[in-house]
Amino acid sequence: MFKINPLAFIIGFLYLILSGYSYAAPQDKAAIEQFCQQLSQKLRTIEYEPCLSFELQHNDFKSIEGRPLVHKEFLPQDGKRPKARVLAIGGVHGDEYSAISITYLWMRAIQQHAQAVDHHWLFLPLANPDGLFRNPAQRQNANGVDINRNFPTPDWETSAIPFWKRYYSGNPRRNPGGGPASEPETQWQVSVIQAFRPDAIISIHAPYGLVDYDGPDYVRPDRVGHLKLQQLGTFPGSLGRYAGEYLNIPVLTIELESAGRLPNEKEILQVWQDMNVWIEDKLKPIEVDF
Ligand SMILES: [Zn+2]
Repeated sequence: MFKINPLAFIIGFLYLILSGYSYAAPQDKAAIEQFCQQLSQKLRTIEYEPCLSFELQHNDFKSIEGRPLVHKEFLPQDGKRPKARVLAIGGVHGDEYSAISITYLWMRAIQQHAQAVDHHWLFLPLANPDGLFRNPAQRQNANGVDINRNFPTPDWETSAIPFWKRYYSGNPRRNPGGGPASEPETQWQVSVIQAFRPDAIISIHAPYGLVDYDGPDYVRPDRVGHLKLQQLGTFPGSLGRYAGEYLNIPVLTIELESAGRLPNEKEILQVWQDMNVWIEDKLKPIEVDF
C-alpha cells in the first residue's frame, strides 16, 4: 500500500486551483460517442471502446462542421505535484493519419500507466476533425485553411498572405485564411495555450522524418527517437512562430516519416521516452507562488 503524503496532497491541490485547466461547459455525450464512432471508422489503430474510455472533454469551441474539439488531461496521482505542464497537439493536419494515431497511442500508454505520470498533460488529439473526416482526408479545415498558418502571429496582417503567394505560389494546402485566428480550430488552440500556460508544447505531424524545434535556445534537443533535429524555420501564422518565438514557449515538432504508416512499436516507445527525457532535463521546474 502506498501512503499519501499530506503536504504533497495540499501542494497538488493548490497547484490545481492555481493552474487547473478545466471547463464548466456541459459535456455532450452523444457528440463524443459520434466522434469516437467516426474516429474508429477512419483510423484502424483507434477502436471505439478505448476511445470512449478516455472520457474526452470539450468546451464551447466547435469545428466549422460542428464537431467537438476534444481534449484530455492527465495528472500525477496521489496529489503529487506535476513537474511541468505539457500540451500535446495532434491532427492539426487532417491527412496525417500516423500523427493522429500515435497521439492516441501515447494517451493510451499514459492511461494504462497512470502511476508513472509526472506531468500535467493536456492532449488535443485531433485539432482538425473536419479535415480528417473528409473523404479523402485533407490537410486543411472545412474552410480550406491551413490551421498551422492561421495562428495570430504579430506579422500575420502584414506577411501571411504575401508570403503564401510568393513562397507557396498560393498553394491551397498552405492557405493562411482570411485573418489572424479566423478559424475556430485556431481560436480554440489559442484559448487553450492562454488558459493552460504550458511549459512546453509537443506538436505531432508527418511526413518529413525529423524533429523541429522553436523557442528558447537552451532547450533545443538533438534528436528524438531516430528523428534528428532539423530546424525548418517558422512562418507567418505557424504555431512555431506564435508559441515558440512570440510567446517564448518551447515547441517541439515531431515529424514522423510517413503520414500513412506508424513507426514500429519500439520507435513509438523510443520517441515517447526521448520526449519525456527532454521535458525532464531541459525544463525549469514550475514556480508556484503561495
Ligand atoms: Zn502537418
